[in-house]
Amino acid sequence: MTVAVVGAGLAGLSAAWELIQAGAEVVVLDAGRQPGGMIVTERRDGFIVEGGPDGFLAAEPDIQELARALGIGGRLVDQVARGSTLWPGEGRPLEPLAEGKAAELLGIQANLNVGAQHAAPLQSAFRSFAAGMADIVDALVACLSSPPRLRTTQGITAVAPAPRGWRLSFNGSSSLDAEAVILAVPAWVAARLLAGLGVPAARSLDTVIYAPSVTVSLAYRADQVPGTLEGAGFVVASDSGAAVRACTYAWRKYPMRAPEGYALLRAFVGAVDGDPAAIAHAELAAILGINGAPLWSRAFHWPRGLPRYRHGHADRVAALRERLDGLAPLAMAGAGFDGAGVSACVKSGREAGRTILARLGRG
Ligand SMILES: Cc1cc2nc3c(=O)[nH]c(=O)nc-3n(C[C@H](O)[C@H](O)[C@H](O)COP(=O)(O)OP(=O)(O)OC[C@H]3O[C@@H](n4cnc5c(N)ncnc54)[C@H](O)[C@@H]3O)c2cc1C
Repeated sequence: MTVAVVGAGLAGLSAAWELIQAGAEVVVLDAGRQPGGMIVTERRDGFIVEGGPDGFLAAEPDIQELARALGIGGRLVDQVARGSTLWPGEGRPLEPLAEGKAAELLGIQANLNVGAQHAAPLQSAFRSFAAGMADIVDALVACLSSPPRLRTTQGITAVAPAPRGWRLSFNGSSSLDAEAVILAVPAWVAARLLAGLGVPAARSLDTVIYAPSVTVSLAYRADQVPGTLEGAGFVVASDSGAAVRACTYAWRKYPMRAPEGYALLRAFVGAVDGDPAAIAHAELAAILGINGAPLWSRAFHWPRGLPRYRHGHADRVAALRERLDGLAPLAMAGAGFDGAGVSACVKSGREAGRTILARLGRG
């Protein structure tokens, strides 16, 4: 019998890896076309473009331990440019920002462990991977290739008890039986699947709100961008009226993000009417003094991006897990439950894998 992991984001892939290490039979199912979930790295003309996360705090061990276990520890890269500035508003120059202030300005919850990547405080160095965050996704997916254990475009619509474990229903009319299930999906998806299975307490997961956002990457020739930029990026004061909320100097922050002689910026844009890439370029050109149009731009839309937890979230998740203990083996993992940072997602996924192994008597 099989353990079904629903969701091939970093949490689901980490859970699958943990199970495979213990010799369990695993199948990973994802609704999307590509594995990785919010990790989306595009490699284009020698640029490395991150649509979602671009790194993690160097002090966070879980993702780095997994990278080493996967044999890609040598691909970990350190942040190069450090520190961030504040853009106070029109007509005013960028000014230095105290450590920790950037995350506060962006309203990033400390318990998310996300770290305001574009707002790296001086003492909090970040790390990433040589060819972008997809390095770790690629390494995890490689472990699922022989025999093939990853199935994309397989959205799960229901989970129901079966004689030996669970029956998962798909978009179409097909189904799959599994001895154990790990739900490594966003909280709102888990809430729906668990409520449908007769766990009404799971509706409490609907208190996790996923904030919409857009990231826009813009490529320039290096001579279009002033050479005097300081730090790894800037945060925009919330009363400035700008659509751009923050900007990372991606080609200065990590090595090899742009070919020699080129620059790569990444803007975080709030809700806008119109083309976010055009708006981001216009605002960045005014703030930074960029000359001319970008060589190209790429926008990534996250209608449900980073999760935000309400007060009491950890207690609600703990109560729900206790309720799940009374059922056939079923665990939850990922950003909707245990912290939104990528390292927290690795930890959460591996813990879910261990929970299931223990429930199956293989721990
Ligand atoms: C713009 C942005 C920037 C970020 N920056 C950082 C950063 O710099 N550092 C950091 O640490 N974190 C960052 N984060 C957060 C981090 O990327 C995420 O929290 C983390 O990657 C989530 O991983 P996950 O596996 O829990 O969920 P996801 O990556 O959301 O994966 C869930 C998977 O479940 C699948 N799924 C959903 N419903 C179903 C279904 N019914 N059936 C089957 N599959 C389903 C989805 O297709 C998806 O692949 C950022 C996030 C965003 C959006």
